[in-house]
Amino acid sequence: MTDSKGARDERDAHGMSAGLTDLVKRWVRPEVRAASAYQVAPAHGMIKLDAMENPYTWPDELRAAWLERLRSIDLNRYPDPSASVLAERLRDALDVPQGMRLLLGNGSDELIQMIILSLTGASRSLLSVDPGFVMYRLIADYCGLRYVGVPLAAADFSLDLPAMLQAMDQHQPAVVFLAYPNNPTANLFDEQAVLEIIRNAPGLVVIDEAYAPFTDASFLPRLGEFENLLVMRTLSKMGLAGLRLGVLVGPTAWLDEFDKLRLPYNINVLTQVSTEFALGHQAVFDAQTTSIRAERERVAAAIARLPGVRVFPSQANFLLLRTPPGRAKDWFTGLSEHGVLIKNLDGAHPLLADCLRPTVGTPLENDALTAALADIASQYSG
Ligand SMILES: *Cc1c(COP(=O)(O)O)cnc(C)c1O
Repeated sequence: MTDSKGARDERDAHGMSAGLTDLVKRWVRPEVRAASAYQVAPAHGMIKLDAMENPYTWPDELRAAWLERLRSIDLNRYPDPSASVLAERLRDALDVPQGMRLLLGNGSDELIQMIILSLTGASRSLLSVDPGFVMYRLIADYCGLRYVGVPLAAADFSLDLPAMLQAMDQHQPAVVFLAYPNNPTANLFDEQAVLEIIRNAPGLVVIDEAYAPFTDASFLPRLGEFENLLVMRTLSKMGLAGLRLGVLVGPTAWLDEFDKLRLPYNINVLTQVSTEFALGHQAVFDAQTTSIRAERERVAAAIARLPGVRVFPSQANFLLLRTPPGRAKDWFTGLSEHGVLIKNLDGAHPLLADCLRPTVGTPLENDALTAALADIASQYSG
């Protein structure tokens, strides 16, 4: 840029000139300017227990076979636009009921965005629970779909069914999103309560089963029983977070509409081929999942023994815990000093006061977490 001296004096803290700031303000939509970009904490050199990732990498043999498979890919060509081979593999792997369609997204976040873009409009709303998965609200906000959050029961984060039914009656939401198990509270909602919501919803109900590998409960077998039910899965929490692949399953009539908003080639060739490969080695992931589920119980019991700490029941690959009053920030900082990165939820929602959320890692990582927590708890118990 060749600004004059005078113009340079008017730059703000980011080095933007007043004219540029005005231009951005004039043209970028207010919803976008009001939003903040999704923040990811720096994790270099840390034991990373903040993002519900599978902690296990692949055995050497598997890695070698995967690299061999990648050898034949031609990156100069566009990928299969409908990822048809992969979709069929997923249909089998997930045991999708007859007559249901699959729609693939670049992570389930992209599927959430496609659903919301299809439904958004003035005087329409999306209903979910608070505290719930933050992306529902974030995407609804910037797509101009009004977000309605119904608080969970304070005692145990269960669904407040009367409040849900009342809110659906009042707001007539285009879509209800429920994470099952819920993030960040880790619990499953009561199945009968969810069915009541599906039966009474005026529009769609999306059951987001991102944590399906860590629970035996699922609404996927019930697809087809209800015209307004969709189930969403992701391969991220199972162990393929780096590939970004989400799966939406439900009646063709809905998914055909959402498919029109899918950008061409949204599932890249490396993701298609690598996921197909991984699905052929499901036993490896099942063994990892079994170990994570066992570790979850071991770590929960260890944390529950610390004085003044409460651990909530988890059906996911993370734990929600409550520190003694007013301690969450100190404990989070203490853990960072011990080299363990988790998520501090204190302040994210009133019901999450004093709450921290560690992901379940490998046994060694979990030992580091529980040892650090024990050390910190003894320091602060006073
Ligand atoms: C992590 C998570 C997702 C995001 O999954 P991606 O497929 O990685 O985009 C969706 N829903 C819930 C409830 C999650 O916790």
